[in-house]
Amino acid sequence: MFDNLSEKLDKALHVLKGHGQITEINVAETTKEVRRALLDADVNFKIAKEFTNRVKEKALGQDVLTTLQPGQLMVKIVKDELTQLMGGESEGINLSGNPSVILMSGLQGSGKTTFSGKLANFLKSKKSKNPLLVACDVYRPAAIDQLHVVGEQIGVPVYSDRENTDPVAIAKAGIAKAKSDGHNVVIIDTAGRLAVDERMMTEISDIHKAIDPQETLFVVDAMTGQDAVNTAKAFNDILNFDGVILTKLDGDTRGGAAISIKSVVDKPIKFIGTGEKMEAIDIFYPSRMADRILG
Ligand code: GDP
Repeated sequence: MFDNLSEKLDKALHVLKGHGQITEINVAETTKEVRRALLDADVNFKIAKEFTNRVKEKALGQDVLTTLQPGQLMVKIVKDELTQLMGGESEGINLSGNPSVILMSGLQGSGKTTFSGKLANFLKSKKSKNPLLVACDVYRPAAIDQLHVVGEQIGVPVYSDRENTDPVAIAKAGIAKAKSDGHNVVIIDTAGRLAVDERMMTEISDIHKAIDPQETLFVVDAMTGQDAVNTAKAFNDILNFDGVILTKLDGDTRGGAAISIKSVVDKPIKFIGTGEKMEAIDIFYPSRMADRILG
C-alpha cells in the first residue's frame, strides 16, 4: 500500500539530504517534489498546495542550528502535517445508546455489507457487545443473503424482512427487535447505488431521520481516489455523518483518499478495511497512517 507515494516522498525528501542547512532554495525544491508526489497520489490540488505551503512555512521557521539533519527535520515536519491533515487524534465511535444504533451509508460495492460484519465482529470480540445486524437493502435479495452469510460467519444474528419493501419500516422493526432481544448495538446495512442519485439519497436521508442513529458511518472504497472525496461530500451534505470508513486499503490504492477526505468533509476516518476477511479491520490512527505513507 502507498508504495508509490512513499517512494516519491522519499525521493522528494532526499533532495535535502547532504545539505548542511535548510535554505529557502532547497526547501522550495523539496516542497515542490512533495506536492508533485501528493498530486500523483490523487490528492486534491488545493489540499496539496495548502499542505506544501504549511510545510514550507514550518521548515523555514526552523532554527538552522537544530541538532537534527535537514532531511530528518523535513521528514518530521511532513509527517506531523500529514498526521494533522488526516485528523490528529484518533476518534472512537459513540456507543452511548441503548441500543446504540449505527447506520451504514455509501455506494454499492464500497464494502458496506462486509464492513457491517467486520464492525459487528469487532464490537462483539473486542468490546463485549451483543450486536444485531439489520438488512435494509430492499432492491437486491442477494444483499440480504450476503448479510446472513456474514452474520453466520461471525455468530451475530441478522434481522431481515423479505416481504417488506419499506427500508424505514425495516430499520425501525430491526431496532425494536434489538430492544426486545436485549442487543446493545444495532448495525443497519442500507442499499447503495452505483452512483449518487436522488432516490438513493432521499431513501438514506429518510432512514436517518426516522431512526436518529448514535453513529452514521460513510463507507468508501479507497481505490476510487478523488471520486471517493466527491462521494463523501455528497453523502455528508445529506447526512452530516459522524465518520468515514475507508475500505480496500490492502489494494493497489494511491492513498490520496486517506489524505484528502478529512479536509474536505471535516469528519474523521474511524476505521479502515484491509481485506475481505472479517478480521481485516483496523482502527484508523492518523500518525500510523502517516508512518506507512512515509515508509
Ligand atoms: P456493498 O455493496 O457496499 O455492501 O459492498 P460489499 O461489502 O459487498 O463489498 C464489495 C466487494 O468488496 C466484495 O467483494 C468484498 O469482499 C470486497 N471488499 C470489501 N471490503 C474490502 C477490503 O477492505 N479489502 C478488499 N480487498 N476487499 C474488500
